[in-house]
Amino acid sequence: RMVSAAPASPQEEAQERALRPKLLQEYVGQAKAREQLEIFIGAARKRAEALDHVLLFGPPGLGKTTLSHIIAAELGVNLRQTSGPVLEKPKDLAALLTNLEKNDVLFIDEIHRLSPVVEEILYPALEDYQIDIMIGEGPAARSIKLDLQPFTLVGATTRAGMLTNPLRDRFGIVARLEFYTPEELTLIVMRSAGLLGAPIDEAGGAEIARRSRGTPRIANRLLRRVRDYADVKGDGRITLDIARRALAMLDVDPQGFDVMDRKLLEAVIHRFDGGPVGLDNIAASIGEESGTIEDVIEPYLIQQGYLQRTPRGRIATLAAYRHLGVAAPQQGQG
Ligand code: ADP
Repeated sequence: RMVSAAPASPQEEAQERALRPKLLQEYVGQAKAREQLEIFIGAARKRAEALDHVLLFGPPGLGKTTLSHIIAAELGVNLRQTSGPVLEKPKDLAALLTNLEKNDVLFIDEIHRLSPVVEEILYPALEDYQIDIMIGEGPAARSIKLDLQPFTLVGATTRAGMLTNPLRDRFGIVARLEFYTPEELTLIVMRSAGLLGAPIDEAGGAEIARRSRGTPRIANRLLRRVRDYADVKGDGRITLDIARRALAMLDVDPQGFDVMDRKLLEAVIHRFDGGPVGLDNIAASIGEESGTIEDVIEPYLIQQGYLQRTPRGRIATLAAYRHLGVAAPQQGQG
């Protein structure tokens, strides 16, 4: 099943790689994270030291993986890439760590999904560039210390709150990635169209950008689909009219909400009287996992002011009623 902002397939991942900016200069938006990194990377380079460990958090598709590659490129070091669920045993992580060269970057995606035994190995590695590994078994087993090269861990997660405290405390640089503005996404769409060799005008690019849920991955994905539409139904040029028709066909509405966004808002309004309703009830009602709702679907609805998160549950705002064309209940009882 396709979760809206995650790469849908290995092919899509390959297409994304081709569109990835390689340097901080080309990385659009995220001014705050970029400024921080520029300074700290510059300092690390000047002293020929490893950059402090970096934690990147934010919804999928906002550019965490891209940024980790850029960090390594800007530092002029190698990047090793893995993910929390892939590292099953301590020795999986130990093998990676002991192969790092001086000041290399190790990127761990979904770092909140590391198993506790693997996480345990990571602490001394992050703190002192050392690991303890067990040699042998049973009564003859003993632990030996191995020195590692200095390195930088870049961890990515959709929610910083899901990290254990001891792990979170070991990151010196913490950057939260934000949804992109339509203007920033327009730059990304125009650049990607250039790389794909797809003729596009500014209005067509801006329309795709406006409907991309603030997310570069979605912008690039919609661009590819609109381009297909333009090739088959038009003369190949991506214009405002072509973009609108293609996006309507793809069920992306003028706000950029997709089928799941609307399903969620409709459920809160029609089945739970607008809320407050708990996440698990919404999940059961729309047949989606609560983790996916929390990480992927609702952050954008909340940021755009269609949904509110309260201690008693989620509430649909007036904007949500308006968007769905439903009369809102009277506020403030008399
Ligand atoms: P994440 O790791 O957060 O899920 P990615 O780094 O894989 O997201 O980004 C998804 C796609 O979006 C990449 O292929 C890249 O082309 C594009 N992208 C992400 N951030 C930016 C950015 N700041 N500027 C330009 N393109 C970006």
